[in-house]
Amino acid sequence: MSKIIIIGGGLAGLAAAYRLSDEHHVIIVEKNDVIGGMALSYHIDEHTDGHVNGHNADYYIEKYYHHFFSSDTELMGLIDELGLAGRLQWIKGTTGYYWSGRAYPMNTPLEILKFPPMSMLDIFRLSMLVLRTKLVRDVRSYDDMTAGEWILKIAGSGVYNNFFQPLLNSKFGSNADRVSAAWLLGRVKIRSDRGAEGERLGYMRGGFHHLIAALADSIREKGGRIITGNGVVEILMEEERVSGVKLEEGTLSCDTVISTVPPVTLASLVEPGIPGFDPGAINYQGTCCALLGMSKPLMTDGTYWLNIKADVPFGALIEHTNFMPASDYAGEHLLYIASYFQDYDDPLYTWSEDEVIGIFLDGLEKLYPDFDRSAILWWELGRDPLTAPVYETGYAERILPYRTGVDGLYLAGMFSEANYPERSMNGSVRAGYDAAEAVVHGV
Ligand SMILES: Cc1cc2nc3c(=O)[nH]c(=O)nc-3n(C[C@H](O)[C@H](O)[C@H](O)COP(=O)(O)OP(=O)(O)OC[C@H]3O[C@@H](n4cnc5c(N)ncnc54)[C@H](O)[C@@H]3O)c2cc1C
Repeated sequence: MSKIIIIGGGLAGLAAAYRLSDEHHVIIVEKNDVIGGMALSYHIDEHTDGHVNGHNADYYIEKYYHHFFSSDTELMGLIDELGLAGRLQWIKGTTGYYWSGRAYPMNTPLEILKFPPMSMLDIFRLSMLVLRTKLVRDVRSYDDMTAGEWILKIAGSGVYNNFFQPLLNSKFGSNADRVSAAWLLGRVKIRSDRGAEGERLGYMRGGFHHLIAALADSIREKGGRIITGNGVVEILMEEERVSGVKLEEGTLSCDTVISTVPPVTLASLVEPGIPGFDPGAINYQGTCCALLGMSKPLMTDGTYWLNIKADVPFGALIEHTNFMPASDYAGEHLLYIASYFQDYDDPLYTWSEDEVIGIFLDGLEKLYPDFDRSAILWWELGRDPLTAPVYETGYAERILPYRTGVDGLYLAGMFSEANYPERSMNGSVRAGYDAAEAVVHGV
């Protein structure tokens, strides 16, 4: 029985611990007070600001919008194994595109045909692009070409300028021109898997909090330990192999470490470094995402996901309660305002929470002049600088292996093979399993 320390209590760390804790002594160390990482949830109850005494709210909602796809088999298998299959739901996730002063539904071929900036020829070319994508077997072979180059080549400038470019800009900002066609093909493949009626997306009734909680319970039942609110500050070595970790408070010894933190964070934990490991090889970007609890809906046409081309400081609005019923959330309407940032000096990261919420609400009023601020019951602002790798050209070469050049040090996370060419909950669960296998077999 080895003693294994897992750095990070997100899905990759939890999945690895879930697999390893049957046979090994496992400790997860999470720097935050709560586990879940990017998939953690807020607990909204009567103590949340904005709830008047006696208001009966008591529910969980993800800090960042989450759903999954029918191809996410690892995640569904895990949900099933944990006895949570009854919570799985497949729901129509309606999408729209805000352009030139109004929102256009984009769910059916007919609705897409009516999207004004695109000519009939552009729509035809877009359909051809989607069909062509479906025929691509190995998206990795498109890793060296940018998404922009590929769209221009296959579908022309009308499709690029009026459809894809605003989406790429809002998702990747100043990195948009560097993102690979492999990433785009991966996204189009998943998202185009919809019938004439529109796409169905997976969600767990009551939220992914139930998955995180069930994983933690199972790990503890098998004898594993989860330490929260105490980050790892150094991975300790003896005779060139891992011997333990130093925490903000205390030290733990072990034979093996699985790190699930981003590469730049890992580099700061290992002295003098990991042979052959370049922490700068994979760029990450940050997310700034507000969540509003409201007494009435914003998008009254029932849109779940609205992409936006307009001069506002966010790229998408995601109205969760146009996806799951508001009755699951004490009758409250939940709206995410989503934005990504590329630099630590971006105002979305450096400004105070009140300032950011202020510019977000100004932006909402610009898009929806009838928006009523007094409908906001409470808000939360989630900001993290390292929330997703930027899938630039050449990324496939930089994917980090599960086993490192340091004896006893393994890696699993958003930077792993399982999360190429897009990170997801499914990818991190698989990365956790793969790292667990690598530890067991020493490969
Ligand atoms: C805005 C947003 C929307 C998303 N939407 C979806 C979606 O719809 N569908 C989907 O499938 N996926 C989605 N994802 C992706 C998904 O959430 C992630 O891929 C997945 O949760 C990542 O899990 P992970 O364990 O690899 O990494 P993380 O969740 O980042 O876990 C790493 C953990 O390490 C901890 N940590 C960092 N430093 C230290 C330290 N020094 N010591 C100890 N602990 C440390 C962190 O606090 C964190 O908990 C979304 C992500 C974001 C940000």
